[in-house]
Amino acid sequence: MAIAPGIWWLRMPLPFALNHINLWLLEDGPGWTIVDTGYATTETKELWERIFAELLGGLSVTRIIVTHYHPDHIGLADWLAERWQAPLWVTEKEWLFARMASRDSGDLATARRDFARRAGLDSAASEIFAQRETSYRRGVPSVPASFHRIANGMVIEMGGRKWQVIVGEGHAPELACLYCAEIEVLIAGDQVLPRISPNISVQAHEPDGNPLALYLRSLAKLQETLPPETLVLPSHNLPFLGLHTRLEELVAHHDARCAQIAAACAHPQSASQLVPLLFRRPLDQHQMGFALGEAIAHLNYLMHRGDLKRSLGEDGVCRYVRADLQAR
Ligand SMILES: [Zn+2]
Repeated sequence: MAIAPGIWWLRMPLPFALNHINLWLLEDGPGWTIVDTGYATTETKELWERIFAELLGGLSVTRIIVTHYHPDHIGLADWLAERWQAPLWVTEKEWLFARMASRDSGDLATARRDFARRAGLDSAASEIFAQRETSYRRGVPSVPASFHRIANGMVIEMGGRKWQVIVGEGHAPELACLYCAEIEVLIAGDQVLPRISPNISVQAHEPDGNPLALYLRSLAKLQETLPPETLVLPSHNLPFLGLHTRLEELVAHHDARCAQIAAACAHPQSASQLVPLLFRRPLDQHQMGFALGEAIAHLNYLMHRGDLKRSLGEDGVCRYVRADLQAR
């Protein structure tokens, strides 16, 4: 459906608990620009073909923009680029991550196994966690071998309007949000979502990373730069008005999580011990991977801030305890 001047809102299915993704089709002079592509399934390809037949008014897709490298966003980029002989526009880090993850030779499994063990999962659960990464290729069978780089601050002209690239960090390495001041619309990718908070996870390839600090800094940047009533087009759930209110809610959510974790760390805690505290509902394996990464994101944030200390036990598990208590 039409959601803003020159912008069409598409919804495609996903084979997860989060069962859909929003994609955007922008009128762009003599052609169309697609923003995000969907997870690579036959069903999504068929839906794309229907859209091409019914919606494009005889025009071609001339550009494919991808916000970030996650499978539901970049999955069909290569297929679409081939199908339309159209270039992929994406930030450099997102392209590199997509290429890396889609060609993973399996050596990341070792890093993932160690990561899960240090987080406190038993060896069976660690093995499941280690093998999960190979699922990237299911959603992203291939990634275009070349790309057109977009970067923070760059302005892209689409359909006679100027769109500014605003890079967000924390959820993905260099996620491109697109903002059009003329119509006060933000295509947010997964950087700002209504209802659910975007997954902010420490990952096995960078176990000491601090993505939550990067994410909070990115939210502050959006709050400083964009008007409060911006129309947000998010990748999941519904478009909404009231960007600033949502940004404040997301910051408050992470503050509350940090306070909860700091309180629990009055006694030494492993990351896996904290998962049930943060996620009270039962989790499937897919969600468990996210939950663990998310728990560690909060632990690392508090550790880098000096509120928690981390130590590696003789059992190979990392435990965190409040720095002020350990000092006594
Ligand atoms: Zn994502």
